Amino acid sequence: MAARVTALVVALVVGATLAAGLIVRAQRDDGTTLADLVVRNGRVFAADGGVALGESVAVRGNRVLRVGSNAEIDRLRRPDTVVVDARGGTVMPGFNDGHVHFVSGGLGLEKVDLLDAPTLDRIREKITAFAAAHPDRPWVLGRGWYYEPFPGGLPTRQVLDELVPDRPALMVCYDGHTSWANSRALALAGITRDTPDPPNGVVVKDPRTGEPTGVLKEAAQRLLDRVVPEPTREDRLRAIRAGMQNAHRLGVTSVQNASGGAEEFELYDQLKRAGELKLRVYSAVSLDATATEADAARLDALRARYGDDPLFRTGAVKLMIDGVIEAHTAVMLAPYANRPDTKGTPMHSQAELDRVVALMDRHGWQVMIHAIGDGGIRMALDAYERAAAANPAPERGRRHRIEHIESTDPADIPRFGRLGVVASMQPFHANPSPNQINVWSGNIGPERASRGWVYRSIGDAGGRLVFGSDWPVVTLDPRMGVNMAVNRATPDGIPPGGWYPAERMPLARALEAYTSGAAWASFEEARKGRLAPGMLADIVVLSADLFELPAARLLDATVTATIFDGQVVYSADRPVH
Ligand SMILES: [Zn+2]
Repeated sequence: MAARVTALVVALVVGATLAAGLIVRAQRDDGTTLADLVVRNGRVFAADGGVALGESVAVRGNRVLRVGSNAEIDRLRRPDTVVVDARGGTVMPGFNDGHVHFVSGGLGLEKVDLLDAPTLDRIREKITAFAAAHPDRPWVLGRGWYYEPFPGGLPTRQVLDELVPDRPALMVCYDGHTSWANSRALALAGITRDTPDPPNGVVVKDPRTGEPTGVLKEAAQRLLDRVVPEPTREDRLRAIRAGMQNAHRLGVTSVQNASGGAEEFELYDQLKRAGELKLRVYSAVSLDATATEADAARLDALRARYGDDPLFRTGAVKLMIDGVIEAHTAVMLAPYANRPDTKGTPMHSQAELDRVVALMDRHGWQVMIHAIGDGGIRMALDAYERAAAANPAPERGRRHRIEHIESTDPADIPRFGRLGVVASMQPFHANPSPNQINVWSGNIGPERASRGWVYRSIGDAGGRLVFGSDWPVVTLDPRMGVNMAVNRATPDGIPPGGWYPAERMPLARALEAYTSGAAWASFEEARKGRLAPGMLADIVVLSADLFELPAARLLDATVTATIFDGQVVYSADRPVH
């Protein structure tokens, strides 16, 4: 299709040679309604329940002025209106990632990225190349390796010593639960054959020699904290800036941080004051279940300090109830298939969870609970149900959330809709590649694996959905989540027909979970997440019409332009930053 071959043209400058042919004289000039920017010649997906509304979107200032046909929108153009030619591609609200750890993600951009290294050879290549490219770094840090490429499922320090012989090196697993250190890193941290396992952690040792293998599990990873250089405030600011560029490249204009605190909020605030914050950030505060009335009052003051700003705000607290299925730490209703001695231990008792949820609910906070196993999910739903019974309903309603929701008991599926609990899910975590899914499925067995990531069922039963990535656990690229939600297959289409395909989801609903549904999940549906007059002008343009592509080819569509707050912040054709 010719339209997809021709490069996107963004007319940023009046009279620019590229733009000259696209500029059409404004038909009228009433001075109040004319557009500062138009995106034309696309297929608009407005994310408001319908599919294609029009071909063009007009923007005035930082708001959507109108959606309509090319002819209707062309009438709103002035000579100096910025014109983005969508060349027949989808034009939709900017993606809103419902679950990220943005600073860690940004910091990760300066580390070896092993998420796209499926084989040991590729892992070797990437680490070697990174070390060679950064001779000045005192440590070689990386993240994102999978267990599968290593014989026996775990790497060794000897492999890393070969790749990085001259400096300490540390690579964190994609799930964050295991670290892989070289001999220099172990020596700096004083980890030897005599180092005992810390509580909730394991220093893996060679069964023949008794020497540490370089693998540190769970809490044992903290043994390295003392020696790994801490990112400075400047490092973290730089990480947010780099993260924003990455987000724009991927069409992401809003994120919801599933962790945070007063210190991190200062960073966003500093960027906001400098006019540099070009991403809408809704951030949770990480909270311990022992929080008291005094803690809640302190958080109320923090929330009030930032107010209801569409650029940066808080309003959610994040609690944990369990771990992950891969490490047998997610809380299951029945024992693990391959570990009948455990069903995972909740991080808090039901009574503790009920108390802290009711406390924060009373203070008008949205609560986000990390719950992955069917037992953890039930505990979270129970806590929300009890808080609603105990406290008067807040004026804006309750939109408490559960984060992850990996294996759900069928009895709990309708409770999301009934209780108004938002299901915050990360479809690409279900990527059915052997690297990602074999350990997960094996640990809980086929029956419970078949109830993995049941977003379609939760939505069909009336539950509200928000999709996200959990970046840096997987890529921030929302197309990966959309593809998985729609096809339940790897980016290469494996398995054909999909993994537990009953949960495949219509494309429009998957896109809504990244746009209008995501806005609902942060109480912002009145100002963003749809393309309609008056909404914030955060818009993404794709290289193809998603609704025309065969489902198996969705990933052919790439981001050609990203508009944030009425401004073009990314164009595939030309650098904007
Ligand atoms: Zn997370």
